[in-house]
Amino acid sequence: MRQGIQGEMIRSELADVVGEEYISTEETDRLIYSTDWSWMPQMWLDRGERLATPDYIVHPASAEEISAILKIANTYRIPVIPWGGGSGTQGGTLPIYGGITVDTKRLDKIIAIDTQSLTVTAQAGINGAQLEWALNEHQLTLPHYPASANCATLGGYLAPRGSGTISTKYGKAEDMVLSMELVLPDGTIIRTPPVPNHASGPDFARLFLGSEGTFGIITEATMQIDYLPEVRLLHAVLFADLSNALEAGRRMMTRRLDPMVIRLYDPSSTASLVKEVLGYELEGVYMVIGFDGYEELATLQEQYAMEICLELGARDLGREPGERWWNHRYDFYFPPKSLQLPWMYGTVETLSTYNNLERIYHAKKQAIEETYAEWNARYIGHFSHWFHWGASLYDRFIIEQPPQDAHQALRLHNRIWTTAIRTSLEHGGMINEHHGVGLKLARYMRAQYGAAWPLLEAIKRTIDPNGIMNPGKLGFGIY
Ligand SMILES: Cc1cc2nc3c(=O)[nH]c(=O)nc-3n(C[C@H](O)[C@H](O)[C@H](O)COP(=O)(O)OP(=O)(O)OC[C@H]3O[C@@H](n4cnc5c(N)ncnc54)[C@H](O)[C@@H]3O)c2cc1C
Repeated sequence: MRQGIQGEMIRSELADVVGEEYISTEETDRLIYSTDWSWMPQMWLDRGERLATPDYIVHPASAEEISAILKIANTYRIPVIPWGGGSGTQGGTLPIYGGITVDTKRLDKIIAIDTQSLTVTAQAGINGAQLEWALNEHQLTLPHYPASANCATLGGYLAPRGSGTISTKYGKAEDMVLSMELVLPDGTIIRTPPVPNHASGPDFARLFLGSEGTFGIITEATMQIDYLPEVRLLHAVLFADLSNALEAGRRMMTRRLDPMVIRLYDPSSTASLVKEVLGYELEGVYMVIGFDGYEELATLQEQYAMEICLELGARDLGREPGERWWNHRYDFYFPPKSLQLPWMYGTVETLSTYNNLERIYHAKKQAIEETYAEWNARYIGHFSHWFHWGASLYDRFIIEQPPQDAHQALRLHNRIWTTAIRTSLEHGGMINEHHGVGLKLARYMRAQYGAAWPLLEAIKRTIDPNGIMNPGKLGFGIY
């Protein structure tokens, strides 16, 4: 908590808004809210170092309470850090300058399910799994299935522009939004238009998708939903090499076969992850393809997909290994199968058009494994979210024996990230597809945006003149 009389003043004003039981300045709470799931703060704590903590943690229950909190923050010029589930992997919720962490989880109501228009309106702090279970009771689904659904919130899906397992058919979380309620940094509560596909000027709702709490706080969203599918057909194939597998994925997408998922593991992850998680000992490139919807249609799409794969030399492994992958798809990301400390690791994912995809993969593999050979750096990857024009490369570096010293470890980690990001950008890739920027990638934003960066900075200064919203994230400093 901020010291002295001013610290107490702020505390009592916040308590007036949320109630005494919904504000904390306890040391344990402040420690809990000092880290997210990213490697940097986890390693830092693991090595006995301390992280910056928030001064206050508040748990508001409405947009009006959030509005009042932001007005207090503006008066005292203190940072505000929006917090959903804290499952982010980019340091987006780290309170690097202290301030007020606004935990949104009490905004957990489903406002309406419209079974005619197929939409759900819910408050932004609702847990992903709980929202899904409620929809499932009506045979409906929000087709955004991130591996973190059990620990993430609706607002946390939207703020960093996340992608779920079946984004290839249903789009990213941001593609499912019809409208949002937001609290701007000055406390004004606004609503974006009721539908996104209008032609009444620029779509300013998109400004907030990807703003990661730097432009305000999302308090409610109306999302497009779907009927639960009659079937989900999962099929696995094995390719001898990456080129043909990537070409198969490209053909499925450009011929509009509409797969819900194409998951393509490079030779290294086929030999390691696929073996460890699914138990298959395979040499080559493992690929899972899935279709959903009406059984007859999905079966036909699956047949066409198999024709493409077989034409390109794949071995048909059948449905069982595909279904096994689907049933264990989250195991890849959680202990005991996930990457864990004391290892050093990072998901340096990239998005690009098809013409650059394979060369980006090879360039990054070479850059990371050769530059950090003294650390026995390993590079593995899979291609996971596919578009008509390209796909995302979900690639990772792993160092099993990093430096013990926290400072040295962090420096090495950041050097590897720089190598990975530069290589992606030099070869026509984007910085990432779905994890967002947070603190970890903030320093690359200028390179990513080039001459357009000052425009984004100017927008930030207009929306948030006192710079209170999540400072240090997304490349926006304090001012
Ligand atoms: C094991 C694991 C698996 C994962 N798998 C996936 C995956 O498959 N797909 C994927 O996209 N991501 C994945 N992630 C990353 C992360 O879980 C997602 O980005 C998730 O959507 C974050 O939600 P959250 O509620 O936990 O957000 P938080 O971590 O709390 O916040 C993330 C960022 O959004 C901001 N924010 C949060 N809520 C709001 C709000 N209401 N208004 C404004 N800003 C807000 C925060 O300030 C922060 O900058 C995974 C993470 C883990 C740990």
